[in-house]
Amino acid sequence: MKIAKVIVDVPASTINQTFDYRVPEKFKDMLRVGMRVVVPFGPRKVMGFVVGEAEETEFDRVKDVHDVLDLTPVLTEELLDLGKWLAKNTISFYITALQAMLPQVLRAQYKKELIRLSDGELDEKLESLFAGRDVIPYEEMDGSSVTYRTVQQAIQDGDIAVEYLVKSKETKKYVTMIRPRRDSYLLEEAYHDLSGNARKQRKLLQHFIEAPEPVEKQFLLKKVQTMGSTLKALEDKGLLESYRVEAYRNPYNDDAFAQTRPLELTVEQKAAIQPINQKIADTEHEVFLLHGVTGSGKTEIYLQAIQNVLDKGEEAIVLVPEISLTPQMVKRFKGRFGSNVAVMHSALSAGEKYDEWRRIHRNEVQVVVGARSAIFAPFENLGIIIIDEEHETTYKQEDQPRYHARDVAIQRGKTHHCPVVLGSATPTLESYARGKKGVYQMLTLKKRTNEQAMPEVKIVDMRDELHAGNRTMFSRTLKEKMEECIRKGEQVVLMLNRRGYSTFVMCRDCGHVKECPHCDIALTFHKNSSRLKCHYCSYEEPMPVNCPECESDLIRYFGTGTQKVEEALTQLLPEASIIRMDVDTTRRKGSHEKLLTKFANKEADILLGTQMIAKGLDFENVTLVGVLTADSMLHLPDFRSAEKTFQLLTQVSGRAGRHELSGEVVVQTYTPDHYSIELASTYNYQDFFMQEMNVRKTFQYPPYVFLALLTVSHTNQVKAVQATQKIVQLLMKAVNPGTTVLGPTPSAIPRIKDRYRYQCMVKYKNEPQIREYMEKILDSFSDNIKKDDLQITIDMQPYHLM
Ligand code: ADP
Ligand code: ZN
Ligand code: ZN
Repeated sequence: MKIAKVIVDVPASTINQTFDYRVPEKFKDMLRVGMRVVVPFGPRKVMGFVVGEAEETEFDRVKDVHDVLDLTPVLTEELLDLGKWLAKNTISFYITALQAMLPQVLRAQYKKELIRLSDGELDEKLESLFAGRDVIPYEEMDGSSVTYRTVQQAIQDGDIAVEYLVKSKETKKYVTMIRPRRDSYLLEEAYHDLSGNARKQRKLLQHFIEAPEPVEKQFLLKKVQTMGSTLKALEDKGLLESYRVEAYRNPYNDDAFAQTRPLELTVEQKAAIQPINQKIADTEHEVFLLHGVTGSGKTEIYLQAIQNVLDKGEEAIVLVPEISLTPQMVKRFKGRFGSNVAVMHSALSAGEKYDEWRRIHRNEVQVVVGARSAIFAPFENLGIIIIDEEHETTYKQEDQPRYHARDVAIQRGKTHHCPVVLGSATPTLESYARGKKGVYQMLTLKKRTNEQAMPEVKIVDMRDELHAGNRTMFSRTLKEKMEECIRKGEQVVLMLNRRGYSTFVMCRDCGHVKECPHCDIALTFHKNSSRLKCHYCSYEEPMPVNCPECESDLIRYFGTGTQKVEEALTQLLPEASIIRMDVDTTRRKGSHEKLLTKFANKEADILLGTQMIAKGLDFENVTLVGVLTADSMLHLPDFRSAEKTFQLLTQVSGRAGRHELSGEVVVQTYTPDHYSIELASTYNYQDFFMQEMNVRKTFQYPPYVFLALLTVSHTNQVKAVQATQKIVQLLMKAVNPGTTVLGPTPSAIPRIKDRYRYQCMVKYKNEPQIREYMEKILDSFSDNIKKDDLQITIDMQPYHLM
């Protein structure tokens, strides 16, 4: 390669282009497209990806490539193209898109080593370089007369390998992790209580408000750019805590999984798998929507379709939501395909993730089971892509590049001419609508494989309880059924449905919830101003003293903690033993599994928890499921709240009666006639779909329109509003008459990190040039972004409208 075309690691709006660099003699024979290099850029040296090559360059003063970081390409040509598509689609920088496809270890510079793999004779110069050692520092090669080409050849022959040393492994066996000790809404309160001087503390809290998962201390400090003392201050306040975990590198022991064999498919399963197999055989792309109730045998279909793909010598990607990467799911895939499976999820350390990635990169495995980012697995002969629980919102990335794994899957499926299977018991409205239109091919499984009926669901109206003098959080029905269940020696799962901030306002007497007159979205209570605000448009009103429907003064905002429920439960059923599962009790590593094992061993009568218990769990002795507050998600400021409520209720109901014993579900609610609750109780997805589509049509939400969300932030409130105002005007001028541009509206979290946040929402049906408009907006504000600290983020498929 003579001239390398390089995308440099400098995310700035003018730098979404390649730069030419001359390739020095020593790299000429070995440099390939898809490798990472170090190049001079202005006064600095930066990392970059070689995305193309040329014989000559039209520029006069071209600098030399300073260093090459890889000996084999880390990105295939397909992934380089995919990165371009991703950047364009999500309006991100190309460099950001490329980095998103790689494991973290490859995003930074890590120490490298050359490792000798074979005892056979090496090239003479290499032999003298190793000088009898098995491992040598990479830098030794740099200073020697051995050429990169020689090393590259030896790698290709399998004689030596390059290892990236992950820092945590290098120096110590333990890493320190940080996690929140309080629920998000309490962190938020603390955030607002902190004085303006405590900026770094706020930044740290902000991180956990947005992402409550544990995170490595070093990574966190670097991200927030602060020191341990800031962290200590928050630990002392009881908001965060640190703990150490072993930095192990081999997460799964393949021998531990008993081998399973393909099951004889049922008639329904056969009908569903046939069209998928046909596409696999024909090497043709198609998107399938596999709609089947829990326990209908979807996973068995995935397994058998993958077997077909493997028999063809091709590879498979299976995406599962983070939460269902429980040992149970891993066991299904490892049990069938053994060590041919790589597993990728966020609980793995950086080193482990890199190890799994490398097994794919080296063609050592043909199947990857992983969370969202596994969609970028560097397979070169993909034969199928499966997205299980396709409705889960974890498939949308909330950081740059803001992509949805489903879109990436379909894009890769087209390139590889292979089928994409989206599976769910409760598909998103978007996918189901496409299925009905024939854009996706619909496959349906109506029956559970064990022919068991879905458990019966009883809805209890909590307003009646109040009026009958029952002021506890347990209805009389639920209490009776729990007692009966425990008497029979069976077990109960109780779910307290809480998510994010429970800040909507509801009347306890009549169940009335204040909604925005323009958006059909629950208004959000803002404590500071004591006002109710709409997070979609700018509507607001004062917090009412009495219920506007029934005049009752029992109108207030909503939310109880699991601990309170546990106390109440102990009073109600003093004999019952309870296991509580929430952020507090699952803080210690492994405690999640421990609690579940305890419950599975029947060491407790009741498992009480938040929605973390709704998914994937499978206990044969559970015959009663109780949902304490079915409404609380219904009133989130989110147009998908009815859909999410329906999905969650369906899912949690599936926890009962999975096996021999039949199950029962009790759902407590203040809005028993809401269609999402009513229809979930009869597992009536069809009718729910029809009803919800009507709502979406009336208020113009997806899938009837597309959304784009621009969020503008600045430390100066006036500047933030003005910039948003200008964006609204620019867009109004550009878009078609049928398109709606809303804003400026304060974001759901109106101030983060001392920055005021305003947003503009676009609802459109047909705007072929919408992405160009967005880029123009970024361009026209580029000076303010560079010099005045203005930030504009654009989400072309917003999920969290915050
Ligand atoms: P889903 O993924 O739709 O929830 P699964 O594939 O997990 O369903 O199947 C539910 C249960 O039925 C599992 O225990 C599975 O082993 C079993 N099962 C699946 N297919 C068959 C079949 N064809 N014959 C017998 N049992 C089956
Ligand atoms: Zn009322
Ligand atoms: Zn509104």
